Amino acid sequence: MRMIQAKAFADKKILLLDRQPKTSNDRTWCFWETKNGFFDEIVYKKWDMLSFFGDNFSSIMPIAPYQYKMIRGVDFYNYSFKEISHHNNIEVIVAEIGEWQREKSGATIFLNGQEYSLGNPVIFNSIYKPADNESGSIRLLQHFKGWVIESDKSVFEPQKATMMDFRMHQDYGTTFVYVLPFNERTALVEYTLFTKELLPANKYDEEIRNYVETFLDIGNYRIKEEEFGVIPMTNRKFSFGGEAWNIGTAGGQTKASSGYTFQFIQKQSQQIVDCLLKGKPLDTISQTPARFRFYDNTLLDILYHDTIPGKSIFTRLFKKNKPQQVLRFLDNESSFIGELKIISSLPTWPFLKAALRQL
Ligand SMILES: Cc1cc2nc3c(=O)[nH]c(=O)nc-3n(C[C@H](O)[C@H](O)[C@H](O)COP(=O)(O)OP(=O)(O)OC[C@H]3O[C@@H](n4cnc5c(N)ncnc54)[C@H](O)[C@@H]3O)c2cc1C
Repeated sequence: MRMIQAKAFADKKILLLDRQPKTSNDRTWCFWETKNGFFDEIVYKKWDMLSFFGDNFSSIMPIAPYQYKMIRGVDFYNYSFKEISHHNNIEVIVAEIGEWQREKSGATIFLNGQEYSLGNPVIFNSIYKPADNESGSIRLLQHFKGWVIESDKSVFEPQKATMMDFRMHQDYGTTFVYVLPFNERTALVEYTLFTKELLPANKYDEEIRNYVETFLDIGNYRIKEEEFGVIPMTNRKFSFGGEAWNIGTAGGQTKASSGYTFQFIQKQSQQIVDCLLKGKPLDTISQTPARFRFYDNTLLDILYHDTIPGKSIFTRLFKKNKPQQVLRFLDNESSFIGELKIISSLPTWPFLKAALRQL
C-alpha cells in the first residue's frame, strides 16, 4: 500500500503471494498513535481512555495525545485488495510457497509444488519460522481467545477500553483480559496469556465465560464472533537480509515483551519504501535499537522464569508512571531519561539479575 501511494513503483512488476485469500476477519489489530495514521480510514474504533486493573490498584487513564485504535483484519484486507485491483502492475496469486533459491541473476520458487523462475526480484518474506533451539534463546507464547459479545443491556462505556485486567487467577502464568467496547452493548473481550504452552481449547472459553459473568455484570449476552491467536515472544535475534528481506513478525517486528507488532510493521514498511525511493541499499535501514531489545529481553526473561508475576510488573509500570510514558516506552520511542524513570519503577534486584543473564 505504501509502494502504491509512492507512485514511483508503477512501472515495476509486483507479485503478491499468499496461501490464503485473506477474506475473513482472522484478527483484529490494536495499537496507539498520536496522529492520523496511514490506515486511519479503516480504523473501526478509537478510544481516548484506557483502564487498568492490577494488584490492589486500578486506574482509568486519559491517554491524550494518544488514541488507542482498532482495525479489523477483514477491513484491512478488503481495503488493500480493492486499492491493489486498480493497479495492473500488481498481480496477486493465492498459492502455497515452498522453497525458494536466489542465484546471482535470478530466483526460483516453488508454488503449490511447482517450480517457477523469476527474473531478478527483490523478495520480501513474511513467513515466520520458529528457530531451532538457539543457545540462550527463550520463547513465550502470547495466546488469546476473543469473543465479540452483544448484551441485552447497555453496559459498556464506548469511550473507554480496558487494556489489561489482571483480576483473573494467575494459575497458568501471566493472564489478563482486555475489553474493547464498540458501543454500549457490544464489545470484544479477549482472554490473554503469556506462557510457555497453549491451554486445552475448552479452557479459553471457560475462562472468558468466567470473566464475563464475574466482572462485567451484563446479563444475557450472545457471542457474535470469535478469534484465536498465538504471537511468539522471543529474545531471538532476527535477521533482516539474506535470501530475502524479512519483514513483519518474520523480520523481528514483534516486540518481545508485549507481542505488539502492528505499528512496528508500519514503521518498517515506511522505512523500506523510503529507502527504495532514495535508491539506497536496504541493509542501511536501522534495526531496533539494541537498548530496546535489551529491555525487552530482560522483561521477557523475568516473565519466562516467573521471577516476579507479570501482574505485579505491569501494575508497577502503570501505578508509578504516566500512561503516555508507558505507551511511548512500549513503542520504543522513549528518551533515555524516560527509560531510566520507567526502569527505576521496577524492582531492582530481579531485573538486574535478569539483565545480567541477557547480557
Ligand atoms: C489473532 C491475532 C491478533 C493480533 N492482534 C494484534 C494487535 O492487536 N496488535 C498488534 O500490534 N499485533 C497483533 N498481532 C500480531 C501481529 O500484528 C500480526 O500477527 C500481524 O498480522 C503480523 O503481520 P505479518 O505480516 O508479520 O504476518 P501475517 O499477517 O501472519 O502474514 C503472513 C502471511 O504469510 C502467509 N503464509 C505463511 N506461510 C505461507 C506459505 N508457506 N505460503 C504462502 N503464504 C504463506 C500467511 O497466510 C499470512 O497471510 C496479532 C496477531 C494475531 C494472530
